[in-house]
Amino acid sequence: MLDRLTPQHFIGGEFVNSGVREKLTVYNPARAEPIAEIPRGTAEDVEKAIDAARKALPAWRLTTPSERSRMLYRLADAMQADLENLLELEALNVGKPRHNARNEALFAIDLIRFCAGAARCMEGKAAGEYLAGHTSFVRREPLGIVAGITPWNYPIVMLAYKLGPSLATGNALILKPAEQTPLTTLRVAQLAAEIFPAGVFNVITGDEIAGAAIVQNRDIRLVSLTGSTDTGRLIARQASQDLKRVHLELGGKAPVIVLDDADLDQVIAGMRKGAFYNSGQDCTAATRLIAGPAIYPGLRAALTEMVSAVKVGAPDDGDDIEMGPLVSSEQLERVSGFITRAQDTNVTITSAEAKTDREGYFFPPTLVSDIDQGHELIQQEVFGPVLTLQKCDSEAEAIALANGTDYGLGASLWTRDVGRAMALSRAIHAGAVWVNCHDRVTPEMPHGGVKCSGYGKDLSMYSLEDYSHIKHVMVSHD
Ligand code: NAD
Repeated sequence: MLDRLTPQHFIGGEFVNSGVREKLTVYNPARAEPIAEIPRGTAEDVEKAIDAARKALPAWRLTTPSERSRMLYRLADAMQADLENLLELEALNVGKPRHNARNEALFAIDLIRFCAGAARCMEGKAAGEYLAGHTSFVRREPLGIVAGITPWNYPIVMLAYKLGPSLATGNALILKPAEQTPLTTLRVAQLAAEIFPAGVFNVITGDEIAGAAIVQNRDIRLVSLTGSTDTGRLIARQASQDLKRVHLELGGKAPVIVLDDADLDQVIAGMRKGAFYNSGQDCTAATRLIAGPAIYPGLRAALTEMVSAVKVGAPDDGDDIEMGPLVSSEQLERVSGFITRAQDTNVTITSAEAKTDREGYFFPPTLVSDIDQGHELIQQEVFGPVLTLQKCDSEAEAIALANGTDYGLGASLWTRDVGRAMALSRAIHAGAVWVNCHDRVTPEMPHGGVKCSGYGKDLSMYSLEDYSHIKHVMVSHD
């Protein structure tokens, strides 16, 4: 499949060579070897994409919801037919186990189908006579040209997060995938070329140079970033120049509160996936276990055993691989740095062996216990397979520890007592709280954070609202 990809920008319905010249190398992280080169997009390339979007927009915004819906369903069908190619590319580029890549591609397809249906269900709240002799109603309209900037951890899912609501609501989209993982986005662009009018969906490859050019462009009315909190801050600051909207899905540091009455086996199974799925490179990954005093000793022993049992390997190593490598040498260095520094502090570190004899950016599943709330492993997003364990003596202390970071994206609670689950889920500051499960998403339900995890919602009808605006129209009866 790799040889059939066109590693170029996708502008105005065509793959085009960027006028400039610098290339970025794309790697297979399971082997630490280069697999492709992509153009390093510039402001000039972004301007070309905006021209194409500007030309497409007048006709595109007049399409009916039903027409846009049909095109989105066609794209989902084309992706479904291409599933094997998409999952192979995703596994190759991110190093994911194939079964994970398959499930993620299927989720992306399902989300595009959800958006295709939702396109036809947008509503304004009411219409009526609020001033005598006048009828008012609310129209929901596209924003215009919008931009999506995505991270490297779930490339095809992130594409669907941006493409689905943008196109469903009648915007033209410029998408910039992460420089490390552009391959499935380029494949979807090949499929989309047959379906959408030219200029409605454009892809600019590259890094922060293209990203910054997108954010600075005054014709773009919304920038939707999924990325780190630092990048979110930069983008919000830059976007304030022309007051463009920003939609920010940023970092996380999900707490996991385990009450004494929790089902220990259920917690361990939940953490095996919740902490180590995608090698922990997940904004809602379980990162901080906070356990009641009675369950703590058993939990600690079971977790120590579990981290050594997680099967680590490359996509080619077999169907039972649970966890692949980190995405890049930079990410490996970053995650290793946290653990090297932690060795000089008074924590207890339990690391499994990285079970692979290949080159590749592998890091073993790791448990860190006997750790204080102020430690950087509690306060900073590691974005790797590292789980911390803290003990608490009361529910009040559990909540204080859970809420005691700058982040607020996801959290989970483990208890058999539904009343405690209700009370504690209210007390946790986060965009999502899971009870007796962790990090489950569905297209119908919103995803997005509070505090430094950002604002705006992905998934659900709320995301379509974020990609559109409401207009009041008042008609005089005279
Ligand atoms: P990143 O912020 O480094 O990069 C994300 C994207 O932003 C990339 O496409 C990058 O090229 C672009 N970018 C970087 N600097 C930019 C700038 N100055 N202007 C414009 N664009 C710029 O993040 P990453 O390392 O690719 O991804 C990991 C981060 O993403 C983690 O913090 C993770 O928590 C977060 N994330 C959040 C969610 C969520 O839903 N909240 C989901 C996945 C990942």
